[in-house]
Formats: sequence, structure tokens, C-alpha cells
Amino acid sequence: MNFLVVNCGSSSLKYQIIDMASGDALMSGKIERLGEGRTHRDAVREVLEKAASVEIAGVGHRVVHGGDSFHDAVLIDDDVVAAIERCIPLAPLHNPANLAGITAARAQLPGVPHVAVFDTAFHVRMPRRSRTYAIDAEVAARHGIRRYGFHGTSHAYVSDRAAAFLGRPLDELRLITCHLGNGASVCAVEYGHSTDTSMGMTPLEGLVMGTRAGDVDAGVVLLLARELGIDAAEQLLNKQSGLAGLSGLGNDLRDIEAAADDGNDHARLAISVFAHRVRKYIGAYAATMGGVDAVVLTGGIGENSRTLRRRILQRLEFLGIVLDEDRNADAKPTLAEPVAAVTTETSRVPALVVATNEELQIARHVQATIDGARQVEAKRPIPIAISARHLHLDRKTMDALFGAGSELTEYKPISQPGQFAAEQKVNLIGPRSRIDGVRVLGPLRPAVQVEVSRTDEFRLGVDAPIRDSGKVKGSAPITLEGPKGTVHMEEGLICARRHIHMTPDDAKHFGLKDKDEVEVAVTGGPRDLVFGDVLVRVKDSYRLEMHIDTDEANAAELSRGAAGDLVYEPAPSGVQGALRGKRAK
Ligand code: AMP
Repeated sequence: MNFLVVNCGSSSLKYQIIDMASGDALMSGKIERLGEGRTHRDAVREVLEKAASVEIAGVGHRVVHGGDSFHDAVLIDDDVVAAIERCIPLAPLHNPANLAGITAARAQLPGVPHVAVFDTAFHVRMPRRSRTYAIDAEVAARHGIRRYGFHGTSHAYVSDRAAAFLGRPLDELRLITCHLGNGASVCAVEYGHSTDTSMGMTPLEGLVMGTRAGDVDAGVVLLLARELGIDAAEQLLNKQSGLAGLSGLGNDLRDIEAAADDGNDHARLAISVFAHRVRKYIGAYAATMGGVDAVVLTGGIGENSRTLRRRILQRLEFLGIVLDEDRNADAKPTLAEPVAAVTTETSRVPALVVATNEELQIARHVQATIDGARQVEAKRPIPIAISARHLHLDRKTMDALFGAGSELTEYKPISQPGQFAAEQKVNLIGPRSRIDGVRVLGPLRPAVQVEVSRTDEFRLGVDAPIRDSGKVKGSAPITLEGPKGTVHMEEGLICARRHIHMTPDDAKHFGLKDKDEVEVAVTGGPRDLVFGDVLVRVKDSYRLEMHIDTDEANAAELSRGAAGDLVYEPAPSGVQGALRGKRAK
């Protein structure tokens, strides 16, 4: 299964198509210069044209701000879109771009689920002490002013990776994860949960970033606003500060490091302030968590700059972190080998460099969200109808058994719309014995089909194949006896394959299609049973119902009014996995 992961900025759209079986990106790219005559809609169209040969089963959208509303990834519907719109005041630069991508992708890929994955969701349960700004509580509440945190997808992903590398459960570890890229934040991941993080109500707080200032005295903001005006102050703090503002050399650390090597003092100061700020947060979070079990560095800078890693991790022996210079120089994590330790063998607290993979993490959220939604929806029980032996007749055989031009008369309707049990009955004659009084179902069909159970077959002395309804070619012979005549059929006797009738709407509901095979569990009775190889049959005229024969019903001790549930693979974290059974090609 492949998911498209979309990350929309105001002027660019980054995408990856991820194959969930391998976790690999089948395609990836970045479409830039949106807004200059090219819209997000054009960009999505371009992606889908490039990916025309790939089947996309779902789309994950990175959404920067989910406010208080979103604790986890969600399936996108109109209500979710409205809720993301309500978060625009909290992220005026990001959420409108994210929404533009969502709208464009939903319009152009309407048949697949779209899932919003929020940067803020991982931090949503931050304790009050770390999420609260010490300002007038009433004013804060009115404007939703609190710390939300960002980069949650990356912090969560690298935490998982680090725990796996250390061979310890995440819920036993206190981690400090440092996402150091063009945007940068630190997170205290305490026993699997974010308990503090350096970005706040907006991504402007905390570390020194490529172009953002990070922490500044609020008095500075006021002064800038007074002196330059609000818009210019906003521009300065977001776009002209950080490494770029300090160095005067742009936001790429590689250029700044090169200049620092050449003795450029502005570049040296930029690196020094950057590293100092990260160290300050590491110390702070070790204190707030009452200790630390590992420090993780990630993001473009964390993964690539050995100089900054050294500046950050040196002289932390008091925390148990002993940097290994050689390991640090050699560390080059890749997506294939994403974790490298940069501390000595005996360092009590390891420092790890981890290659982040936010797209894969988003794709995993898409999978879990789709499965989770299916789990909730799939709770819709499937009524089970027990089919006693019966037969369908064609015109010619009807004439032979009941007289020329005779018609079936309705005895009572049966559950599938338009079908009925007829007054007419037929005797079945096999090589060993006979079964009399077998009910005919109407209306007439193009071919005769006699459906019996395995027990009936033993009685009759025939060996009928298990067949889907309608597939009588090459099935077993049987003799039919009616009031007006006897007909020997060379084929037509089957043991019906268990199946579920459903409407296209039901199929969509369960995430199934015609000819899929599923497993259905019958529980709560004296003989719980899981039926495998259950064929899914989808048609507008059907009604949701599973059909089994009397042998099958007896095996599960079922009676009228029974119902079953689709069976899913177990999956970690309490979320249900994929449906069990085989999917049709
Ligand atoms: P990200 O936002 O995570 O993609 O990180 C981008 C930033 O990582 C770039 O702007 C650079 O500052 C930094 N970066 C990438 N590669 C290197 C490298 N080899 N050495 C130093 N910095 C790097």
C-alpha cells in the first residue's frame, strides 16, 4: 500500500510517496515558487501526473497547528477543515498553506482517505506548568495563548528510533531530542510523552534557527514593534534573525561554518549562540525531568554538522555524557541506518544522531488512522443468514418439473431484495439416497443451481465442489424430481461458498471491494468460531448479510438473529491492523 505525504508551505509543496511494506519513498520531490501564477492546485496536479503509475491508497497532510482541538492525526472531513481554519490565528503563516494543499488534494483524489497529521499533537498533553505563559490568565484563555510546541512528528519518530537502538522501552526512558534544522526545537520526552519543548505558541520561541530569533525578551518584541511597526517586526524576527541575522551570510550553516573557519567573527558568534542555546535547553530539560537517559540530535544540522554536535555535547560529563570525537566525526546516519552513537562506550548517558523521517512517520499515522477509523466503523455487525438447502431453476427446467408455462408462486420474501422462497418444492435424487421437499427460490435464473450442505452430499452420495453462486460449470450432477417430471442435470449441484452480500456503501464503510476475502468471527455464544475464506459480494441491490449453510451454522451453534464481526490483524499501540483475509487483485 502506498501513501502520498504532502507538506505544503506558502510557496512550496514537498511530497513523498511511501511504500508501507518497505517504508521506502517510491517518489519524492519539491515543487517551488507557488503563488507566482502557480497555485497549490497546480502543484497537486503536477504530483499526481508524475505519480500516475502508482496506486495511492491514502494521503497524509502535514498540518502545523492543531491548537487544542487535535490530540492525534485525524481523517479529514469538512468539520476537520473548519477546525484547522479556526487555528489560522495561531499559525497565520502555515495553516493557510496546509489548508490549500488539503483542499487541492481532496478535490483531485476524492476516492481515498486524507489524514491530517499535526506538528502540535505530540505535545498536546504537556503539563500545565510547561505549557502556561505567566500572563493574565483570563487574557491568555481568551486568545488561546499557551505553549503548543511543534516538530512533534520528528520528535516522536526519533524517540522511537532511539529507544529501539538502545533496546529499551520508550516508556522507561527520559530523552532530550534536539531537532536542529532550518527550524529547530528541543523536546523533553519523558517516558514516551512530551513534557516540555522549546517552541511555544508559535514556532518562533526557543532555539536559534535558520532565520528565526528563538527566545528574545518580550520587551525586545515591543521595542521592535514600536520602532519598526508590527509587520516589519514580525518579518525581522521570523525571516531576518537567527543564523542568517547573526552571520549576515544567509541561513545555511555550511556557509557559516566555512566563514567561521576563515575567521569571520559574525559567523563564529552565530555558531556560538546557536550551540549555547541548545546546551542551555539540554541542561534545563535534564533538570525538569530529574535526569536524562539519552540525548538525540537530528535535523539537517544535527545529522550533518559534526562541529555543532561537538560544540553542543562537549563538557556535559556532569550529566554522564562523554563525547567520542572519532565517533562524532564518523557519524553519518542514513535512512537505511538511521542511528549512530557519538558518545564513548562507557558514557553513562548515550548521545545519538538519528536521521529523522517525518514523511514515514506521517505515513504511519495515515495507516493507523485509517485502520483505527475502520475499527470503529467495522463495529457494525454483519447479520448472518443460515441457508437451508435450496435450489434455483431456469425456465426450461421449471417447465419440465412443474409443467409448461408454470410460474413460481411466492411463499415468503427472503432477506435479499427481490428474491423469495417459492411455494414449489423439488426432490433431489442422488446415487445413494434422496432428499425430498427442497425449497425453490425465485425468481427464475438463467441456470439451475442446487445448493446443499456437506452433510446433504453424504446423504445423496455426491461430491459437490465449493463454489461461488452462479459458477455451476463443471459442478456435480443431480437428478431433480417435480410433480410433472424428472430432470437429470449433468451439473448444477454446489456446496455454496460462504459469502457476505453488501452494498457499495457497506463496502466503502468496511474498506472492501467485490471479490475480496475476509474473516468473520462469531463470538459470545457457546462455540465461538472464526470463518475464513468468506467472499465479499458487492451490488447495489444487496443487503448486508453473511450467508452460511446449516453445517456451518451448527459448527458455531448459531441460530436466527446471529451476527459476526470482521477480523483484523492485531497491531501495536491498541490500534487495529489490516483486515485479515485476502484482497482481490
Ligand atoms: P533541515 O531544515 O532539517 O532540512 O536542515 C537544513 C539545514 O541543515 C541547512 O540549512 C543547513 O544549515 C544544515 N545542513 C545540512 N547539511 C549540512 C552539513 N553537511 N553541514 C552543516 N550543516 C548542514
